[in-house]
Amino acid sequence: MQQNKPVIPFSTLLKTIMVVSSPSLLVLSLFAILGALDFSYFVYGYIGTMMVSAVFVIPFLSNISALTHYVNDLALDRRVRSPDLSFLSNVGELSGALNRLQQSWENKRQEMETVITEREILVDTLPDILIMTNDSKVIVRTNRAARNIFGQNLAHRHLRDIIPNETLMNAISAVIDDLHGQEVEFHLGEPFMKDFQAIIERFPIPSEGGISIVITLTDITQQKRIQRMRADFVANASHEIRTPLASIIGFIETLRGPAKDDAGARDEFLKVMADQAERMSKLVNDLLSLSKVEMNVNAAPISKVDLLRIIKSEKQHFEWACKQKNVSIRLKLNENLPATKGDDEELAQVVRNLIGNAIKYTNSDTEVIVTAKLTSSLPDDPSFRNLSRAIFFSIQDHGEGISKEHIPRLTERFYRVDTARTRKVGGTGLGLAIVKHVLNRHHGVLTIESEVGHGSTFGVYLPLYEDLVPQLIEKKDAPEMPQ
Ligand code: ADP
Repeated sequence: MQQNKPVIPFSTLLKTIMVVSSPSLLVLSLFAILGALDFSYFVYGYIGTMMVSAVFVIPFLSNISALTHYVNDLALDRRVRSPDLSFLSNVGELSGALNRLQQSWENKRQEMETVITEREILVDTLPDILIMTNDSKVIVRTNRAARNIFGQNLAHRHLRDIIPNETLMNAISAVIDDLHGQEVEFHLGEPFMKDFQAIIERFPIPSEGGISIVITLTDITQQKRIQRMRADFVANASHEIRTPLASIIGFIETLRGPAKDDAGARDEFLKVMADQAERMSKLVNDLLSLSKVEMNVNAAPISKVDLLRIIKSEKQHFEWACKQKNVSIRLKLNENLPATKGDDEELAQVVRNLIGNAIKYTNSDTEVIVTAKLTSSLPDDPSFRNLSRAIFFSIQDHGEGISKEHIPRLTERFYRVDTARTRKVGGTGLGLAIVKHVLNRHHGVLTIESEVGHGSTFGVYLPLYEDLVPQLIEKKDAPEMPQ
C-alpha cells in the first residue's frame, strides 16, 4: 500500500489565497481611499494578510488534494493507504468515513474474487464440454473437459477449425439470428469418432470478455451405441421368431385345408411344426437367459463353484446328441482343480453352450475333448494382470473350423457363420453371446482358436476363488460394455 504526497499547483494556491484575503483587501482599500492609510502601509498590510491566509490555506488545500488523489485511486481500484486529513478532520468525520468506505470496498473485492474463483473451478470441473464464443464464433473461453478433448490453446480460434460440423455451425447461426436456444445432436468423425448432444444458448448482452454464445457438449457416443444395438436386437429377435411362427401358421392352414385328410402329410407336417416350436422355445429361453445375465451384470457372483462337478454333470445331458452323430466326449480333467467364485447355474450354461456347439459343429464319428486344469500362462486381460494362475478349461472339436474373419464377431448376438447350416442344427445365434456375458460377470476370458478343415477350440479362463476377492474390489466400478 502506498500513500501519495499531495502537490498543490501554484496557481490554485495563489487564487485561493487571493479569494480568502479579498475582504481584508476591501477594507484596506477603503482606508487608503479615505486617506486614513498611507500607500506603503496599505501594501504591507495586504502582504501580511496574504501570508496569514496562506498559513490556513496551504494545509487545507493539501488535505483536499490528498483526498482527491485518494478517491481517484479508489476509483481506479488501486490499493492506497487512507490520507492524513488532520486539517479536514477538524471539520468533520471525513477521514473515518473514508476508512470505512475503503474497508467495505476491500470486503466487496474479496467477495468478488472468491465468487470468480469458485465459478472458474465449477466450470473447469464440469464433466460436460463448455465452449464460449463471440458472435463471430471465435472461441473466447473453454473449460478443462473441452481442452482435454480438443487440445489446449483453443482461445481466439474459430470454432469451425476445432469442431468442423455443419449441423453445429448452422444451429449456432440460428441462435445468433433469433436469440432462441437450440439443442442438436451430431457425429464427429476422425480422429474423434464421437456422438455429441449440443445445447446452445445466447447471452442477451455479450459479457465484458465478448462472450455471447455458450455451447455445452455432452458425449452421447455410448448412449447412441446402446440405442443402435437395442434397435438391431429387437429387429433380429422379431425376425428370428417370425420365421418359425410363419412356418407353423402355414402348416396349420395346410392341415386345415388341402391336407385335411392326408394322414401321411399330417404326420410329416406335425413333425416340422414340433421342430419349429422347439426352435422358438429355445430362442425364447436363450433371450431370457441373456436378459437375466445382463440384469445382474454389476452384481458380482459370490458362491464357491466346483467346475469339475459341472463339467461331469453337463456331459451326461449330451449323451443322446452324441449317440445321434456318433460323437464321444473325452474328459481330460485335473481332479484337484481348485474352486472358482461364481454362479453355479450361469457357469453350467457356459459349459453347456460350449459342449453343445462342439457337438453341433463337429464332424460325425469324431471326439470332443474337454480339458480342465490349473494354468500359469494367462491371457492378456486386465482381470488377470495381477494374478499368477487361473483355471483353464477348453472344449476342442473336430469340425469344419471357423475362418479368421468371423472369430471376433462370434460373440455378437445372432451372429452366425453360416445361417442356413446353423438353423439346420438348431442354433439360435445367442449361445456365445450368453457365454461372453456370463464370463464378463465372472471376470473370465473366452479364447477361440480355429483352423478351417481341422476344428475349433473354445477356451475359458477363470480366476480362482481365493484370488478373486481383491480383483472384485478393484474392478467393482469398471463400466461394462454391452455387446
Ligand atoms: P448358435 O446357437 O447358432 O450355435 P452361438 O452363439 O453359440 O449360436 O454361435 C455363433 C456361431 O458361431 C454359430 O452360428 C456358428 O456359426 C459358430 N460356431 C460356434 N461354435 C462353433 C464351433 N464349435 N465350430 C464351428 N462354428 C461354431
